[in-house]
Amino acid sequence: ASTTAHLVRLGKKHVTNGLGRLTDGIMSRGEGSYVEYEDGRRLLDFTSGIGVTSLGHCHPKVSKAAADQCLTLVHAQCSIAFHKPYLQLVERLLPMMPHPSLDSFFFWNSGSEAVEAAIKLARVATGRQHIICMQGGYHGRTFGAMAVTKSKTIYSEGVFPVMPGVFTMPYPYWHQHNLPPSTPAEVLVNQSLYQLELLLAQQTAPKDTAAIIVEPLLGEGGYVPAPPAFLHGLREVCDAHGILLIADEVQSGFARTGKYFMVEHSGVRPDIMVIAKGLANGFPLSGVVSRKPLTDHLKPGTMGGTYAGNAVSCAAAVAVADAFKEENILENVKERSHELRNSLEALRSDPDVAPYVLDVRGEGLMLAVEFTSPDTRVAGALAKADSPPGLATRVVHACIERGLLILTTSAYEVVRFIPPLNISKHDLKHGAEIFGEAVRAVLK
Ligand code: PMP
Repeated sequence: ASTTAHLVRLGKKHVTNGLGRLTDGIMSRGEGSYVEYEDGRRLLDFTSGIGVTSLGHCHPKVSKAAADQCLTLVHAQCSIAFHKPYLQLVERLLPMMPHPSLDSFFFWNSGSEAVEAAIKLARVATGRQHIICMQGGYHGRTFGAMAVTKSKTIYSEGVFPVMPGVFTMPYPYWHQHNLPPSTPAEVLVNQSLYQLELLLAQQTAPKDTAAIIVEPLLGEGGYVPAPPAFLHGLREVCDAHGILLIADEVQSGFARTGKYFMVEHSGVRPDIMVIAKGLANGFPLSGVVSRKPLTDHLKPGTMGGTYAGNAVSCAAAVAVADAFKEENILENVKERSHELRNSLEALRSDPDVAPYVLDVRGEGLMLAVEFTSPDTRVAGALAKADSPPGLATRVVHACIERGLLILTTSAYEVVRFIPPLNISKHDLKHGAEIFGEAVRAVLK
């Protein structure tokens, strides 16, 4: 019989070891900001399935739109015919774009696939090969996306060679420059842009460089918002040399940061934008947005995929875009962000906790707390030799024991907060309290 214990045993034996897993057991239900496990555990979800279920689990209108589409047309392959939800989604997205020049769309299933397509588009449109990416960047697990992923060696360990022609510059994150967290943004921006200048003078000539790909808020690499001056600097370099700027908004997009897209905080216009995750609230869907004169370089048939832009996911995404407006999501993000940030900052006035908190940062409901570590080099004097090792992971497990599902990032001792964007004031406060208790328990 398929008892829970039997299925878990089966999973341990027959599901690949290549997947990591944060929690034990079987997740069986999701409703709003909560998930339930077969064994009766009910957890407040501050992961949103890694930044996906932005309107909460099983949002009634989104689920209904998908269910209705399931009974109308499930699969209308994108190279065979347009389907209505595809076009309705384009209609919804056009006015949400950070700049009116971003007017040409194509859809995929995952963020990684869309990153691959963005790189292909940049190469075809410029006739150049090289891509510059960021130290600490994360763009996915396929070979092209992996080549521009620099947040942790584990993603490409043992599987080289990945896509060639990739050059890496630093992100304005103090760790990457071996400077303390108090370093002014201007210094970090100048350091990073100077390295870009060197890269273009010494390693990859501008005439060989197709694009710079950047997460406007570094995600897996530590949850670090780019100072606006950094994105402006990248834009200037791109304009000076005919290089395209690709903004990967897979995690930071769709209202996550309090604006529809993170690039809006700086006003910098990307040439290509990659979107996914929150776009369809859990249905697999991603997209590449660019301007028509660029995508016109693509010959018909050069892009596509069996399931790319499938009808059910597109129908869900249309409902997501509508719900964002109906539920005033941007307003909720701003209010809840303020509350969450305040409660995280308040930990710094607890004398038992403060010495172990290096940084509280982020934008909107994409926030993070960075802890000290005895293993991480933190600009010499700042490193706390008595820091318990693996603080972020231990805090995450202490949170889960207390009913809060939460994640670290893949780099450094960082715990990230990506709750649903429509989370209530009460649930947010509850989660922040659990986090505080967990931190105190781990440090005791
Ligand atoms: N880009 C960014 C910024 C991401 O955060 C992720 C996923 N965490 C990806 C790309 C890859 O997306 P997917 O896992 O859907 O392939």
